[in-house]
Amino acid sequence: MADEMATLSPAANEQALVDFLRERDVECPLCGYNLRQLQSARCPECGRELELRVGLTEPRQGAWLTAQIAMAGAGGIGLIALLSCILNGWPNARRFQWVMNVQFAYYLAGIPVAAALLWQRRRYLRMPREWQWAAAWLAAIATFASIVAFVLTG
Ligand SMILES: [Zn+2]
Repeated sequence: MADEMATLSPAANEQALVDFLRERDVECPLCGYNLRQLQSARCPECGRELELRVGLTEPRQGAWLTAQIAMAGAGGIGLIALLSCILNGWPNARRFQWVMNVQFAYYLAGIPVAAALLWQRRRYLRMPREWQWAAAWLAAIATFASIVAFVLTG
């Protein structure tokens, strides 16, 4: 009895598919044929067997993308900054040395942070939405401010 509840027969699964498609316009994933009112678990156009599946809704990635672009920008400058540090040592500003120090440190930190964001995308998307956007705005503002500061002190 418990086993019957746990797994439905192929016929029951096919019936669920037929029921689902009775009043829905869904394209065959292979050939694009409209499967509305399908009578069996097989595409009448291309002949492939079909099944009903459950999927996740597409996660909203706007905050992650914003953070990624901001940190990729900082990390990209960071690679140039790293090369410059190796060749010429730590930079001297014409004025406001501490601003130069902070922005160079930020660019260099941008390299591993941008890489981590790319590898930890799923973890980022599991954070509460407000945290995602707070982090994204922080990254965008920091990168923008550092570029403005670079123009002013460079
Ligand atoms: Zn098909």
